[in-house]
Amino acid sequence: MENISQNITYLQGTNSRHPIDNTPNEAQLANMKFLGEYFDVLYGAMKEKLKDGVPKFMSITCMFRGKKVNALTPGASLTSLHLQGAAIDIDAIDGTGITNKMIFDYIKAHLPFTELIWEFGSAYPNGNPGWVHYGLLKGRENEKVVKIASKVLKKNSKGNVLKDKNGNTMYTTAYTRL
Ligand SMILES: [Zn+2]
Repeated sequence: MENISQNITYLQGTNSRHPIDNTPNEAQLANMKFLGEYFDVLYGAMKEKLKDGVPKFMSITCMFRGKKVNALTPGASLTSLHLQGAAIDIDAIDGTGITNKMIFDYIKAHLPFTELIWEFGSAYPNGNPGWVHYGLLKGRENEKVVKIASKVLKKNSKGNVLKDKNGNTMYTTAYTRL
């Protein structure tokens, strides 16, 4: 299979944890390639900050997520840009000198984006996100919505914290828009 971009293989772009078909159609593949061009710009910028000799400094944890995979992904939105191949989750590799905060800050300052999410981790803006969600859909590249995702306690309408059937405290994701 041809690569998505210079720095994203087809397998990386369509990889999922589930043993089910996750093949993008032509339009989804085109979205992936459009995003891939900007991922390559990010990749090049981060590479310049590296000390010599580190071959791998960013992981792609998820890019295209077809309907079936999306349905199996906890917390995944039905309108996720991943469904269109227009989002990529990036995780810097520890010890390389590149951090998720650096990736987030670079995209925010220098690249077009539809949405950019600081995914969990420690507090914005001085901490480090657990990973970075970079969403870019052609035609919507100037929307530039920035969100901070955090886990919050799940409560009922009376404000009581909910527990699951095993007695574990339940959490939900809150998105704060900057
Ligand atoms: Zn994502």
